[in-house]
Amino acid sequence: TAQLDGKVALVTGGSRGIGEAVAVRLAEDGADVAFTYRSEEARAALVAERIEKLGRRAWAVRADSADTAAVRASVDGTVERFGRLDILVNNAGLGVLGPIEGISEEDVDRVLAVNVRAPFIAAQAAAGRMTEGGRIISIGSCMAERVAFPGGSLYATSKAALTGLTRTLARELGPRGITANLVHPGPIDTDMNPADGESAPMQAQLTSLGSYGRPADIAATVAHLAGEGGRYVTGASIAVDGGFAV
Ligand code: NDP
Repeated sequence: TAQLDGKVALVTGGSRGIGEAVAVRLAEDGADVAFTYRSEEARAALVAERIEKLGRRAWAVRADSADTAAVRASVDGTVERFGRLDILVNNAGLGVLGPIEGISEEDVDRVLAVNVRAPFIAAQAAAGRMTEGGRIISIGSCMAERVAFPGGSLYATSKAALTGLTRTLARELGPRGITANLVHPGPIDTDMNPADGESAPMQAQLTSLGSYGRPADIAATVAHLAGEGGRYVTGASIAVDGGFAV
């Protein structure tokens, strides 16, 4: 049997990029997978199809991470639909970059709502539903660990906040056998950060390996943490960044 047989996962922002790779990988490993998306319904339907082709149940739920009620409803809905929740992956995120003078208060509110408040609310809602063996995994960024170029004030602030959340969740939920960890991707080829984008050569050069990673690289580490291999890992920040932050 697959290592996540009988488990249920919820991945935020699963219609594209890293979230899609995570959702499909967890299904390959045996989990039934619910995932949220904001607007790309057709893309979400394709991901659900990929999961179902693997013989697992899928649920694509439109839920804007900026809307706390929608975030809570996605957690509750997953439990109603699939009967339990074992793995929460906080992946949905916004990358707003630029000089600090150009960041508006609206940008600050929007990015903190999606990148920080949503993972907080989802973890809070999920913690109430999870039992022994539960896993809360958040997607941070290598920019929370190393500021290698200017323009990341808001983004790095939002991703660094997840360290505090993850460590506290580890302490509070550890006695119940639930782990919480943070994965920090380096430059990963997605719509948000395409490997043929303008700043891609600069980003690639800042890694030790000199190249972009793939969404599947992040999914592999998330799958490890979600499975038996993650049993004794909690409160950790794990770089999957090609050696960007070294
Ligand atoms: P993409 O922009 O390629 O994909 C974003 C996904 O999240 C889509 O499924 C999108 O849904 C969904 N999403 C975006 N905003 C919301 C929202 N408000 N509510 C619900 N869903 C939303 O991003 P990546 O895959 O590149 O990034 C995933 C995570 O990894 C983010 O947290 C990002 O900060 C982080 N990261 C990425 C890096 C990279 O180089 N790519 C590096 C470091 C961290 P829809 O299809 O409906 O728009």
